Amino acid sequence: MSSDVRAADAAFSAERTLVAGIDIGGTKIAVLVTGEDGAVLARGVVPAPAQEGGIAMADAAADLTRDLVAQVSGRLRAAGVGAAGVVDPDAGIILAASAMFTDWVGFGLAAALTERLGVPVAVENDVNAFLLGEVAAGAGHGSDVLGVMLGTGVGGALLLDGVLRHGPNGAAGEIGHTPGYSDLVCTCGQIGHLETLASGTSIALRYAERSGATGLGAADVAELARGGDLDAIAVFHAAGRAVALACASAATLVDLDVAVIGGGVSHAWDLLEPAITATLRTDAPVSGAPLRIIPAALGSDAVALGAAAAARSRS
Ligand SMILES: [Zn+2]
Repeated sequence: MSSDVRAADAAFSAERTLVAGIDIGGTKIAVLVTGEDGAVLARGVVPAPAQEGGIAMADAAADLTRDLVAQVSGRLRAAGVGAAGVVDPDAGIILAASAMFTDWVGFGLAAALTERLGVPVAVENDVNAFLLGEVAAGAGHGSDVLGVMLGTGVGGALLLDGVLRHGPNGAAGEIGHTPGYSDLVCTCGQIGHLETLASGTSIALRYAERSGATGLGAADVAELARGGDLDAIAVFHAAGRAVALACASAATLVDLDVAVIGGGVSHAWDLLEPAITATLRTDAPVSGAPLRIIPAALGSDAVALGAAAAARSRS
């Protein structure tokens, strides 16, 4: 490399600014370093020390981010986080989280990461970040979009007029805990929520109840369904129908034309789609405008890409 090229490269490096997207879950922390255009320049994953407390989590996320930034020529300008739990996005504090996290509720995540990285940090709930990612770079184009994540539980997020709806308690979009879908007990202790049919955990439980076969995960049940197992097919049919009803209700209430479905269970789209399509024929929004229910496009990158998008829009 000539000295001229090196000098030009150095000048370019000095100018290029970077935005990090950080996905903090209960088992892993994934970071994407992006350019201003959203292109992914570096990526990494480390185990999440969820049992060790918020400070350990912030240390792990910041260390990984710094390592990745060091691999890319440029200067970190901002970072965004998609974090598991209920989040106060203005204060950057975790308001509620599952029991797998130690010293996470009340933790000032934005402040802790700003201190470690020296840049502004935007914090969003992980499902909100998922939806921002899908809208920015994935499946969910539009200004009014429902996001539903079918994972261990069922999470939801709502984009209205191009802005995430957080609600006064940070809990807008929690479609997984809307009632009326079954007579089964939900993880939250109430009865009949969408999550009782549509989460990965529930799909495994519902299949075990029907077939007597225990110890299988949702992906195993999906394989059985593809092989013609009628109990497995019925479980996915019930999940797809419940998801479609929930999306149709949300779309009817706030006038949406797109719902994006992500999370591990959405990988069985071939098994969910027949019931979704059938349900949309009988239970379409009363506006007459067609509701599209579509699978997510970004896979496991959606949360980190959405977190980066949130950082870009807030800084
Ligand atoms: Zn519930």
